[in-house]
Amino acid sequence: MNRDELRRRLEFYQDIGVKTLYRKPAAAKSREARQAEISGVEAAHAAPAERPPAAEQPALVLPSLAPAGDTLARILEDIGDCRRCRLHEGRNKLVFGVGNGRSPLVFVGEGPGADEDAQGIPFVGRAGQLLTQMIENTARREGIELRREDVYICNVVKCRPPGNRTPEPDEMETCGQFLYRQLSAIAPKAICALGGTAARALTGRKEGVTKLRGHWLEWRGIPVMVSYHPSYLLRPYNQDAKREAWEDLKKALHFVYD
Ligand code: URA
Repeated sequence: MNRDELRRRLEFYQDIGVKTLYRKPAAAKSREARQAEISGVEAAHAAPAERPPAAEQPALVLPSLAPAGDTLARILEDIGDCRRCRLHEGRNKLVFGVGNGRSPLVFVGEGPGADEDAQGIPFVGRAGQLLTQMIENTARREGIELRREDVYICNVVKCRPPGNRTPEPDEMETCGQFLYRQLSAIAPKAICALGGTAARALTGRKEGVTKLRGHWLEWRGIPVMVSYHPSYLLRPYNQDAKREAWEDLKKALHFVYD
């Protein structure tokens, strides 16, 4: 791991609230593990003696967390045909994000479902239709002219987790670097985190959505409004949550557009 990779990893842990990291002492490695490492190196380099000393090896060029002048197009290009984590295995389409790349308001969900995976567009299934209605109807009622395409919508992970399970921490870590770059490139006035996974990825807070919703938190200086995930609101018995979600959205809309 090079310095940039290490920095990105540590920043990610900090952002999700991990405060202490433990380093495995080198001596703790088993003889077998060391032997396997040596054999691996030898297998990868048929003539190890001829490898240049470390200082002469070409530097591995990785994009930093948010390269100067970063753009959504560049981030998409860097993601490429991503195989960085196991989620790529079941993917049909990578779901990057949609909407206005200069929007002052960004919605962040958890990860694509079946419809999103098929179309490559976030929030197009039932939960997505509810989100669109919530955005457009709440804005209209509050006297704000706003369509779905005026905001930016994306997810913590870009590939559908199998069976719509919650993304694992290592998947969030790997994909989180691209979410963070998207947010840095857009630099919105506020972010709306939809559900617990988005709330955790952006604020590092461990409390549930019920505790966090309705309050302004922060991601790198940008205000974050946590609210319920639209899938949760689709369940028939969640009347109170629906009312609370409208309240959260109103707060976010007035903060951004007044
Ligand atoms: N749920 C999400 O979190 N994101 C989507 O894009 C669709 C459903």
